[in-house]
Amino acid sequence: MFVGHLAVALTAKRAAPRANLGWLVAGVTGLDLVWPLFVLAGLEHVRIVAGATAFTPLVFDSYPWSHSLVMAVVWGAVLAAIARWRHVAAAPLLLVALVVSHWLLDFVTHAPDMPLWPGPSPRFGLGLWNSIPGTLIIEGAMWIAAIAIYVRRYRPRPLAFWSLVIVCTAIWASGPWGPVPASEKALGWFALIGWIIVPWAARADRG
Ligand SMILES: [Zn+2]
Repeated sequence: MFVGHLAVALTAKRAAPRANLGWLVAGVTGLDLVWPLFVLAGLEHVRIVAGATAFTPLVFDSYPWSHSLVMAVVWGAVLAAIARWRHVAAAPLLLVALVVSHWLLDFVTHAPDMPLWPGPSPRFGLGLWNSIPGTLIIEGAMWIAAIAIYVRRYRPRPLAFWSLVIVCTAIWASGPWGPVPASEKALGWFALIGWIIVPWAARADRG
């Protein structure tokens, strides 16, 4: 899942109206921010297998440090500590919940590959990615609803906000038809794009 995570960040603004959107986006995308670092370091592994799921060719062989439920709580605590140090007006528990929300939405989307903890762990996933229409409709509906509510309530900076929406929507919706990454490492480098989205979202917020 991609824009569905961002939808959660937009919606969470209601619970922390004085926190800049960049912090909320850092929360919901946190696991995908650390994931490419672990992939590039060779600690986590992903394969590219055409047709692995309908929506994406990625097979997540191992990603317990970025994408296990236990580590999601840990990364949430790390983000909450950084936010507290930076005097961000968001409850620590909200930030932890945003990071953990990533695990829950990935659990709905991914094949059964989401571990509970690092080490031998059962792996779960409901496999929404097996259906292209299902993914586009469910994730797209979350995204559109969240954008509509956010724009009306918070009046973001138009250029930064809408450019972010367009780029993220294009990356997400083209997924099943876009070019397949050449290698695990190339995918890791590409996924670092997530780190640009955080300051971009921060810029879109007037706060
Ligand atoms: Zn993820």
